[in-house]
Formats: sequence, C-alpha cells, structure tokens
Amino acid sequence: MNTFEKDQEYIAHTYARFPLQIVSGKGSVLTDSEGREYIDLGTGIAVNTFGTADEGWIAAVTAQMNLFSHSSNLFYSAPCADLAEELCNRTGMKRVFFSNSGAEANECAIKVARGWGASVYGPDRYTIVTLENSFHGRTLTTLSATGQDVFHKDFTPLTPGFVHTPANDIEALRKVVAQVKPIAVMFEAVQGEGGVLPLTREFAAEMAKLSEEYGFLLLADEVQIGNGRSGSLFGYMNLGITPDVVTTAKGLGGGLPIGATLLGERVQDVFTPGSNGSTFGGNPAVCAGALHLLKRIDDALLAEVREKSEYIFDALTDAEGIRSVSGMGLMIGVETEGDAGEILAKCRERGVIALKAKSKVRLLPPLNIPFPLLKQAITVLKEVCAECAKG
Ligand SMILES: *Cc1c(COP(=O)(O)O)cnc(C)c1O
Repeated sequence: MNTFEKDQEYIAHTYARFPLQIVSGKGSVLTDSEGREYIDLGTGIAVNTFGTADEGWIAAVTAQMNLFSHSSNLFYSAPCADLAEELCNRTGMKRVFFSNSGAEANECAIKVARGWGASVYGPDRYTIVTLENSFHGRTLTTLSATGQDVFHKDFTPLTPGFVHTPANDIEALRKVVAQVKPIAVMFEAVQGEGGVLPLTREFAAEMAKLSEEYGFLLLADEVQIGNGRSGSLFGYMNLGITPDVVTTAKGLGGGLPIGATLLGERVQDVFTPGSNGSTFGGNPAVCAGALHLLKRIDDALLAEVREKSEYIFDALTDAEGIRSVSGMGLMIGVETEGDAGEILAKCRERGVIALKAKSKVRLLPPLNIPFPLLKQAITVLKEVCAECAKG
C-alpha cells in the first residue's frame, strides 16, 4: 500500500485532505511526493510561522533536545520559565499555563473563567458568551463554546453554560449580557474558521465597556491570529482592548504542538497547586523553539507583515473574479466568484498552496515569506480567480 491507501485504510476518516503528500520543505516552499514544488500560503494552518525547516528554530529545538526534551512538570526547567517571562513581558499578562493545543488552551481559559466566576459570584453564575461563527476547538467543552451548529450535531449533550451572539452586533451583545449576566465573553479578534472576519473596533470597545459595567472577563482566543500574524504581536492589540485571558497555540510552536493560556491580573491566582495540569505542557524542546520564534517577532518583522498584508489587499481588492477581501495582517480571506475548492485545486496545479475558510480562499503565508515568492503566488491566485469566474 502507498501512503494514500494506508491513510484511507488506517486513519479515522475525519479529514478531507488535499490529494498530495508533503515530503519536505524549505522556508516558504513545500515539495510533494512527486517532486513538485509549491509556494506555501497555508503554513500548516498558521503554524509554521517562519515557514518549513527554519534553521534558527531547528537549532533552538535541537539544542534543547540534546540536553533533555522532557522532564514533566514535576521539575523546574528553564525554557518553559523563559518563554512564560517573554510572553508576560510582551503582553502585560501576569502568568502562563502551558498545554499542547489550541483547544486545551481554551479549555484552560474556560476553567479559569469558571473558577474566577465561582470565587466572585458563587457557583450559580457561570455563563460564557461566545460569538456566532466562532471556532474554539474540538474537545466537548470548546465545541460547546464554538458558535457553529454544524460542529455540534451528533455530539450532544454539549457542556452547558455557553450562549452565542452575533459578532459585531452591539445591540445584540448588550441584550444578551443584560439577560444572562455572563462571567466572560470569549472572542477571536479575527474569526478564522468562521470565514476570516475581523471584529470591529466599535464592537471590541463595547465588549470592554460592558465587561466593566457588568463585571465579566474578556477571553481572547488568539490561537490562529496570534504570534505576529495580525501585524501586532496579538490580534487584540489592534482593537484597543486588554483582555483578562489570552489563549494561543498554532503559530507559537512554529511546527511543534504547544498551547498557552495567559492570565491577566484579575485571574492570575485562580489556579492553585493541583487545580490544573498537563504532562507535556511546557515541554522544554517546544518552549525553546517558541522562545526563539517570539524573539524574532520584533517591530521590524511586524512592519514587514503589515507591508505584505497591504500588498495582498491592494492586489486582490476589486480584481476580476474576487468579490471581497477580509482579514488582518497575514490572515486573509478572499471571497471568490468561482468555487473556492476549484480555485485551490487550480492553484496547486500551478504550484501554490492556499486553504479554505467556509466558502472563501484563506491565505496564511509564513510571516517571513520573501516578497518575490509572495508576488508570484498572488499573481497565480489572481489569474485563477479570474479564470474560474468566467468558467
Ligand atoms: C485552530 C483553532 C483552535 C483549535 O486549536 P487546536 O490546536 O486544533 O486544538 C481554537 N481556536 C481557534 C481560533 C483556532 O483557529
């Protein structure tokens, strides 16, 4: 059996994979099993922050692996402490809980909110408001937080305590908050899986205002938009608000699994010894790589991200076959006239990999993609969108 056949036979059928197998890559270029090369505008879903097989990241990870790659949280280890310090220094958050994925980071945030809610208001107040179209993960509780019914069906009963309200609808938010008196509102600065839809500054300001008025926490899910992708270190920083809890994962690991839940002042002491834990969380090798990446996400890189973003928006807005362009930084959704799946297939034929978000084409290039490669890939995408529109 070849890999395609083995995958079909032995792997649970949860994924609709692209019909190609990656065997290697370097920076912003991926190579498949037929030896074909692709410009990578997907980064393994916003994970490979500096592309594939980045030398600095590999060096940081392997240096730590040569010392020790795992010791468990029964022991102190420098990479984990250093990464937490860097995250806190760069965000103003006070403490970090490390886990292994976005869903786990969000589970932790939900536990924090519940723990905080119980201590401030007692056990009867526990509702968390999340936004329609959001995506917060696949565990049963983060699934319950996710405001998309398609993910819920077949898996009921869900975890109680979640109410969904439309994003960017200030009136609806006011209403639901007054009605349910939540302990927290959870949001993505840019809804990724939901179709690359940014929150408006006005909506964010209203969330912040209401959180003070009613006394609830703001939980920012930065799993996809975080770690430089927005053009700021975290997406919420573009919205002029300060959350109480920030979760991140994907791009922080740069290609290895990590989740991080950053705790602000109000919730820094919710957890006490034994109240949460993870065997792999804060894994030294992953943390060493993550710290290396974070240090490279500096002002110069963020300016570069914004510049590339502007280039993409300018190139695609009002282009033939393109209805709209949305997003922030290097997380961009393209609403096309032609079918997005067909457009992605044609792009692959011409050596460009991009992703989908709902019915849109989603672009998540490496933050350091060289301009010539980016231009080459965007030119292909533009041509394909025009072609498929006629089609
Ligand atoms: C991907 C994603 C998650 C889930 O992360 P996993 O690592 O797949 O568990 C949660 N929230 C957002 C916004 C995401 O994009």
